[in-house]
Amino acid sequence: MDKLSAEQRHKNMAAIHSKDTKPEMIVRRGLWKRGFRYRLNHKRLPGHPDLVLRKYRTCIFVNGCFWHGHLVDVQTLDNSGCCKIPKTNRDFWVAKIRRNKERDKEEQRKLAEMGWHCITVWECELKPSKREETLDSIAFTLNHIWLQDHGAKTTLYPQLEEENMQMPMAAESEV
Ligand SMILES: [Zn+2]
Repeated sequence: MDKLSAEQRHKNMAAIHSKDTKPEMIVRRGLWKRGFRYRLNHKRLPGHPDLVLRKYRTCIFVNGCFWHGHLVDVQTLDNSGCCKIPKTNRDFWVAKIRRNKERDKEEQRKLAEMGWHCITVWECELKPSKREETLDSIAFTLNHIWLQDHGAKTTLYPQLEEENMQMPMAAESEV
């Protein structure tokens, strides 16, 4: 059912689009509380990531499920539990959301080429019942990225050390 007037819908969507949307604030506060520091809306990076953590070489995008077509197949654009495309002007919305999804993908590809990690946080993952778990998992991912980038793997996972120690021997026999 599509009961909203065009004007009302425009207002709602403008609100969703504004900079300090609630989901983004939840991520900002949650990461700050966990000791992470970041920059906001980095203009010079592709896609203007919502949060940029230089120390972790990581960009975080906080995506609205509707606008970014969460769980929606790019080809069919069938409705998902997260993104229901309005029946009115369906072609318009399909085209718009498809473009958004393609743009997201392209921007993240560019960022990866520049050596950035990307984390996408979905609005639905920030519901009160899931929020803390989601924020913990972002924190975990960031720490994991840092350890990987700094080659700290072997001290974290002693079982890998044995494998690493054998590698020079294998290399030697090839010389
Ligand atoms: Zn979602």
